[in-house]
Amino acid sequence: MTLPKPAYSRILLKLSGESLLGTKPYGLDFERAREISREIKDIQALGVQIAIMIGGGNIFRGIRGTGAGMERSSADQMGLLATVMNGIALQDALEREGMVTRHISAIEIRSLAEPFIRRRVLRHLEKGRIVIFSAGIGSPYFTTDTAAALRALEIKAEIIFKATQVDGVYTADPKLDKTARKFRTIRYLDVITKDLKVMDSTAITLCKDNGIPILVFNIDVRGNLRKAALGQAIGTRVY
Ligand code: UDP
Repeated sequence: MTLPKPAYSRILLKLSGESLLGTKPYGLDFERAREISREIKDIQALGVQIAIMIGGGNIFRGIRGTGAGMERSSADQMGLLATVMNGIALQDALEREGMVTRHISAIEIRSLAEPFIRRRVLRHLEKGRIVIFSAGIGSPYFTTDTAAALRALEIKAEIIFKATQVDGVYTADPKLDKTARKFRTIRYLDVITKDLKVMDSTAITLCKDNGIPILVFNIDVRGNLRKAALGQAIGTRVY
């Protein structure tokens, strides 16, 4: 049986920490990580090169620490470490599904993960290894969305898959407003001017200035990742 041809040869998948929550209110559902890994394996089989930027919001967000009276830079360092923990878990889950992976951390943590060396990362991708980026860009005051945009540009990914828990970008919060409509496509500038919660404005601006599209879709719906990789019309495309 011949496999369908994917729409992209190299993607950057942004997985929020929340995507690893499963049914838990906090922390990590390892079975959920395995399920996502199986879907990643499925699109790898189509011939797509995959880099993943993993978030940390299921464990800790810097802003939560600041709310509790911490200095922002220290709180963000804790957030960065949360992403490294998720990176280790995701690496384990992917490897249990039989994939070869490399974990790249933006903060030096040599016994756990490699440093970011662009040409080396490109080589990993060319060899079919799944690359997991953790620790965002390694600096406080940023998010893993901005880090996803930056790394996507550096590795020349064709698109950012922003995996979320809603099936696209809406005119309003669909949980609160029954009249909310989903956009099939939307321009970067409209996301910024309408203050739509897609990614933070630094991330969107970076994508806009460099013309990399973002596909926002619901990762909790099985098969969506494959549909996204095949270029089928799901979610919302920000362009
Ligand atoms: N963070 C940071 N710099 C970065 C990326 C992340 O300081 O470049 C910290 C920040 O505290 C953030 C936390 O790591 O709240 C977890 O990342 P994020 O909130 O983006 O995770 P997600 O929402 O995707 O789970």
